[in-house]
Amino acid sequence: MRKFYKDIKVIKSCLICGAVFRPPRGDDNHHGFCIKHRSLYWRSWYEKYGKKLDRKKYKEAQDRAWKNWVEKHKERRRAQALASYHRRKKFKST
Ligand SMILES: [Zn+2]
Repeated sequence: MRKFYKDIKVIKSCLICGAVFRPPRGDDNHHGFCIKHRSLYWRSWYEKYGKKLDRKKYKEAQDRAWKNWVEKHKERRRAQALASYHRRKKFKST
């Protein structure tokens, strides 16, 4: 039988220790490392760059990107907001 794209499982081995891991489809945050070495990798990344990040500027850039997206996809945002409203209305107090 023909395999669908979503059915293809990715199996990778760690670049450092060779441990086999299965990242979810479309996930490219592993950089070829197993879960153990990935946390080490991200920690060193944070030590190197994350501490220097200007949080305020980063947040502003994120907000700008979001607003641009909303401007571009007004219909989709409308549908999203409506779905969110119906999903959450039962949790609303007062
Ligand atoms: Zn590893």
